[in-house]
Amino acid sequence: MSAAPRVVVLAGGVGGSKFTVGVREALRRRWPDGQGGSAAELTVIVNTGDDIWMSGLRLQPDVDSQIYALAGVNDTERGWGRAGESERVSAEMKALGAGWPWFTLGDLDLGAHIARTGWLRDGVPLSEVVARLAARWPLGARLLPMTEAEVDTQVLTDDGRMHFQEWWTRHRASIPARGFVSPGIEDAVPAPGVLEALAAADAILFAPSNPVVSIHPILAVPGIADAVRAARGGVAGVSPIIAGSPVRGMADACLDAVGIRTAADAVGRHYGSRRDGGLLDAWLIAEEDAVLAPGLVASGVPASVHPLWMRDLDTGAALASAALDAALATDGR
Ligand code: GDP
Ligand code: CA
Repeated sequence: MSAAPRVVVLAGGVGGSKFTVGVREALRRRWPDGQGGSAAELTVIVNTGDDIWMSGLRLQPDVDSQIYALAGVNDTERGWGRAGESERVSAEMKALGAGWPWFTLGDLDLGAHIARTGWLRDGVPLSEVVARLAARWPLGARLLPMTEAEVDTQVLTDDGRMHFQEWWTRHRASIPARGFVSPGIEDAVPAPGVLEALAAADAILFAPSNPVVSIHPILAVPGIADAVRAARGGVAGVSPIIAGSPVRGMADACLDAVGIRTAADAVGRHYGSRRDGGLLDAWLIAEEDAVLAPGLVASGVPASVHPLWMRDLDTGAALASAALDAALATDGR
């Protein structure tokens, strides 16, 4: 068995966390530490473009989704938030006319938001705040926000701008989006540890997260895309699009807005091959999309075909393992 690798995953929230749980499991199986964990190191660089202020509280949907999924306390039926959640506080806020009726917050969730906001108000840096929230459970992974700066994603519509959360959750992405902006991101810097983790990685994996509003904001933090291009380790991405469908959610509305077809080949070409100045050494597409592989390879995008559905721990771990193999095969180029 080869030495336990250092693995970095770039990810958004719910979709991305299914993948990070799979990566953790694949690492445990392939490089066990004898105590139920793995000798491999897993670092997740999480999108913070979804973050938002609500009623004076700082919310970090993707960070919390990653923590809850890795801790195994997420609500898998509803698809977001904590399992066994109650909504007493939200109900009282609604009675008061506070907050947003379209954004329900669970009581347990609010505990995390209050803790986070309190620490931020005390001057604790965001990466330390995320570390404290993550320390609530043994996650078997290190979580890093992409940046400590506030760079909330805004949606451009014909009637002006709105926060991504409002467009996505309130309007269910039904208002035509003309583009996405991240005010302030040009002056943001990667959070402590991000560039170091990318430089030290044996494998860098792009989760099958939304390319436009989950992966792009991470890569848009100055220095991160360059660190991926310059990385010593191999870089493998997993397509979030299967047979022209965004699997779940409304990623097609985001792709439309930036002129990328909702197709595995279009997203692969968008990321591009590292050999041609892009980001990937390997692009995993679904069996349903096998017909696209030759065209991708011919145009320089190193595509390979795998089962891409993450239905349970085994299928998630198998996909993660295939992505790891693809990245490790190009390690040390
Ligand atoms: P969010 O931040 O909660 O919206 O989640 P992400 O951006 O991390 O991931 C959302 C994306 O995950 C969706 O747009 C889907 O394309 C993708 N996704 C969800 N489940 C699966 C799956 O089983 N397989 C693959 N390949 N992609 C998936
Ligand atoms: Ca998200």
